[in-house]
Amino acid sequence: MSADFVPPIRSDLTGVASYGAPQLEVPARLNVNENPFSLPPELAEAMGAAVARAAIDLNRYPDRDAEGLRQELADYVAGESGVEVPAAQVWVANGSNEVMHHLFLAFGGPGRLAITFDPTYSMYPEYARDTFTDYETFERTDDFGIDVGAAVEVIGSRRPTLVLLTSPNNPTGTALPLSDIRTVADAALGAGAMVVVDEAYAEFRHDGVPSAVSLLDGYPNLVVTRTMSKAFALAGARVGYALVGDPRVVETLKVVRLPYHLSAVTQAVAVTALRHADVLQAQVALLRQERDALSAWLIGQGFTVAPSDANFILFGMFEDRARVWSGLLDRGVLIRQTGPDGWLRVSVGTPDENDMFRRALLATTSPDDDQPR
Ligand code: PMP
Repeated sequence: MSADFVPPIRSDLTGVASYGAPQLEVPARLNVNENPFSLPPELAEAMGAAVARAAIDLNRYPDRDAEGLRQELADYVAGESGVEVPAAQVWVANGSNEVMHHLFLAFGGPGRLAITFDPTYSMYPEYARDTFTDYETFERTDDFGIDVGAAVEVIGSRRPTLVLLTSPNNPTGTALPLSDIRTVADAALGAGAMVVVDEAYAEFRHDGVPSAVSLLDGYPNLVVTRTMSKAFALAGARVGYALVGDPRVVETLKVVRLPYHLSAVTQAVAVTALRHADVLQAQVALLRQERDALSAWLIGQGFTVAPSDANFILFGMFEDRARVWSGLLDRGVLIRQTGPDGWLRVSVGTPDENDMFRRALLATTSPDDDQPR
């Protein structure tokens, strides 16, 4: 290695650290909103068999457009949200991260603007940076909603091509009323902008909270992104998807994706998971119950809790959240320091992990906490 060689790194990437939360082997890993349940053995076995079948043909490139998987996703959404979306209006990629990257490649770019509402998912500015898209954020309201009047004004004055709405939002857990999404989508339609509703946590929403999928019919500028990383307990497989109001969006995403972006192994695993959706839905139901129980417990203990429609809870308020975070870690519970100052975010775990979290939090925040800091 030559000592005087300096790699010609893009100036905007120089010194930039890569994204990533700590991956620590501790008893309760509640920091990245994973589904805490491992896959049921019969599902893991079925996946193994599906991968073995796919393996025979791995000398060939995969189905470039993942036709079979996109149809299965459409069928799943029809059952889950009661909305029929043709497979031609479904896109799939390696995690909703990659779906969003494709959307930025297609609808962002130099001289174009993406806007969103903070606090929200911390990856969005990275997609913007990678695609040379300008990025601006506007403050959410005190209850972590969106001031739609202000949003409509901003869309008219700043003329973004991409408006990102996250619902349920990360890290707050709060869902947006459908009427707010509709108002923003109307303004965006008038201004020629796409609206992307990031519904990574959709399946955890309370009964009666509608999905933006129900708006797709009337809005050719609407994209709803979803993922199999959470409800389907498939974070390790990397499968995310989008449902779009206009099939031309999918045709454009095909233009910007890398060739054969979704491996045959991934497609086989995802199709198998979708065919076992009912088993996984039982886990989701339990996680929703655990989430509500944990929220109620936190409120009962005097903490402030943001109402969550996701599989995590933002809670506070702490004068020194770093101290609480490390106190929990000392006790084997890893959560996330994120969101506005004073708040912490905990992912909903298994009932045992949630108990561990409760005990650790009480021990950490009680006055006779004797753990070293
Ligand atoms: N959107 C939101 C709001 C998220 O919180 C996450 C995961 N943390 C993602 C998208 C990306 O998920 P994945 O790439 O695993 O589908």
